[in-house]
Amino acid sequence: MDLSFTPAEEEFRRELRAWLGAHIPQEWTRPGFWESVPDDEGFAMRREWEREKALAGFAGIQWPTEYGGRGGTPGMKAIYDEEMVLAHAPRTVNPLGLTFLAPTVMAIGTESQKKEIIGPLLRNEVIWCQGFSEPGAGSDLAALSTRGVRDGDDFVVNGQKVWTTYAVHGDKIFTLVRTQPGSERHRGISMLLIDMHQPGVDARPLKQMSGASEFGEVFFTDARVPASDCLGPIDDGWRTAMRLLSFERGASGTSQYTEFRRQYDEIVEVARTLGRDRDPVVRDRLARVLTELECLRYHAMHVLTQTEQGRDLGFEASMTKLQWSETFQDLWEVFDEVLGDDATLETIDGIDLRALHGQAMWSRSVTIWGGSSQVQRTITAERVLGLPR
Ligand SMILES: Cc1cc2nc3c(=O)[nH]c(=O)nc-3n(C[C@H](O)[C@H](O)[C@H](O)COP(=O)(O)OP(=O)(O)OC[C@H]3O[C@@H](n4cnc5c(N)ncnc54)[C@H](O)[C@@H]3O)c2cc1C
Repeated sequence: MDLSFTPAEEEFRRELRAWLGAHIPQEWTRPGFWESVPDDEGFAMRREWEREKALAGFAGIQWPTEYGGRGGTPGMKAIYDEEMVLAHAPRTVNPLGLTFLAPTVMAIGTESQKKEIIGPLLRNEVIWCQGFSEPGAGSDLAALSTRGVRDGDDFVVNGQKVWTTYAVHGDKIFTLVRTQPGSERHRGISMLLIDMHQPGVDARPLKQMSGASEFGEVFFTDARVPASDCLGPIDDGWRTAMRLLSFERGASGTSQYTEFRRQYDEIVEVARTLGRDRDPVVRDRLARVLTELECLRYHAMHVLTQTEQGRDLGFEASMTKLQWSETFQDLWEVFDEVLGDDATLETIDGIDLRALHGQAMWSRSVTIWGGSSQVQRTITAERVLGLPR
């Protein structure tokens, strides 16, 4: 494992750092800033800022230039992830498209899909949603029942999706649909790319305990999609979905450490302010989480090395997901312990805690989405360790 970056990669770091320094308003980096902006307004601000960043050449760092990417190395992508966190850059508004759809399109999409999807996605002209989960199909995704019936050159889609991130902001949705009449379980499914701005698609927000409506429900009533807007072969969408999910589970690991470590430092600062850093139990918990974080860092380096050598993570992606999500949740459990009886306060001695509370609540979700921890443990046991089923 080589932990150093090349001179060209370090030059890229300097260039990116300068651009971020000049283009992120100071106010945006203040703790609690994004929590103080209404959801829709914040989304629009982040969408525009990210578009400008893409136009300046800081998007799709590792993707081929012919599709609008920068043609960089995995090392540059790791630097990009790190610098974005260090600069307090706004979160992406297109996470499903960037992290999951685009790599899948590049791996198995047609040439015209690559051209039509990737550039507009990078410039945020199209916000992508993921339509996998349904009320009766979560971990057991193969139980999905949304149907597409062939009508000439189109499929006519009926059904319901749920927990759809950014549903109300979405322009298009990559959706698992049962397209083979009478098919069951993993067979006869297609991944259709559906336009959400049509009368047959209704996206409704779901209110979370944090007060935000980051995800929603999507109802399809005779929605139409050209059969050519299918990613991967028609009726073979399960295989397409598994490929996409391996990006979802594996890709995240490389970019988490810097962000989590900064959050850890913020939690330690709160502990000091409250004098909780003198409590031996809290100190022990903080030390354990720090150890977990350092393990995550070295695992992230391992993943990066694998990617640089062109190796597919395969089922190891489940271990990566398990490690970062459990570490993140442990981190925020320590925050709850640090606050103790003060758990509901929004400020303590001038420290604005709203962003930290938001992260603590968000941490409850990370061991669910992208495949729950229980499911990842089963995959790791059976497929990585070869234990009996
Ligand atoms: C913040 C967030 C964002 C999301 N965004 C999206 C999105 O954009 N698009 C989308 O399609 N979906 C999205 N989801 C949905 C997510 O993929 C599902 O929540 C997840 O797959 C789990 O499904 P479920 O909620 O139906 O829970 P269930 O599958 O009902 O699971 C309930 C519990 O049972 C356990 N369990 C289930 N099966 C097994 C098993 N075989 N062995 C052991 N334990 C098991 C689970 O681990 C879990 O603890 C999102 C979810 C969250 C929380």
